Amino acid sequence: MADTGAGRFAPSPSGQLHVGNLRTAVLAWLFARSTGRRFLIRVEDLDRVRVRAGAEAEQLAELTALGLASDEPVLRQSEHVPRYTAALEQLMARGLAYECFCTRRDVAEAASAPHGRPGFYPGTCRSLGEDERARRRLERRPALRLRSAVDSWTVEDLLAGRVTAPVDDLVLRRNDGVIAYNLAVVVDDAAQGIDQVVRGEDLLDSAPRQAYLASLLGLPSPTYAHVPLAVTAGGRRLAKRDGAVTLEDLAGQGSSAAAVLDEILASLGLPRGSLDAALAVFDPGRLPNHPWVVEPAVLFSTAAGPACTPSVPTDKVSP
Ligand code: GLU
Repeated sequence: MADTGAGRFAPSPSGQLHVGNLRTAVLAWLFARSTGRRFLIRVEDLDRVRVRAGAEAEQLAELTALGLASDEPVLRQSEHVPRYTAALEQLMARGLAYECFCTRRDVAEAASAPHGRPGFYPGTCRSLGEDERARRRLERRPALRLRSAVDSWTVEDLLAGRVTAPVDDLVLRRNDGVIAYNLAVVVDDAAQGIDQVVRGEDLLDSAPRQAYLASLLGLPSPTYAHVPLAVTAGGRRLAKRDGAVTLEDLAGQGSSAAAVLDEILASLGLPRGSLDAALAVFDPGRLPNHPWVVEPAVLFSTAAGPACTPSVPTDKVSP
């Protein structure tokens, strides 16, 4: 199976998964399996501040409870730092990375200046001389940024179509030494033979910058499918504070993992019953193209009634 390509689900172990995350995982599995790919699970645990003890085991148990298992040993990013560092060194050797001494505040202020672009690094530290950098290093440990040669990049998304998004001098290694998400994802997807990325729509704008970074590293870009998120009735992205939205909470209310899987499948317009039954009729072209509205107060509250509201179009999804 080694050369069949792979899809993946790559959670950050910051807490339990909620039904929206689980739905994305189910979709990643369906996309992978329906195209003959392996399905891999990757634990994105580089940011130790966000990692919560025990969350990785909880998340893997939640995925297993739904029938989602990785076809290869689960990869933990914290165990692969040398390969991110090697990619970083390659970029540095080619003059494609530079030290940045800006604080968050500096970046925010520059972005809100008259000609600034919100969220777009203006290149303040791009051309600092060696003496200046040596001086600044004594004051602050630098981040490393990409010396981007483009303003934007375009990818094709199976669901969203052609997507062009800004690409700035994105951070490759943070000033606390942590490898940035965008670099780690690109390196790992290629290293693991992942050629299909299915994840939440909130990451759609990251795809062009990741594809650009992959092109600079000489790595292939995966096929993308960014899937609609789960939202509250008010149109806000679902969060754990919104009520009983994790398998543990729902089990406490008497809903089994199988019942939750059924609701997830139903929300996708797929038959309840099993992942395999859903796979047999899975057609990406027929997926709902709007968010899944989840109302925790009524979610799975009665065995007989509708477990959650039908998906309805909303344009109020917060990023
Ligand atoms: N680890 C990221 C998250 O949990 C997802 C990364 C990805 O799928 O590219 O939001």
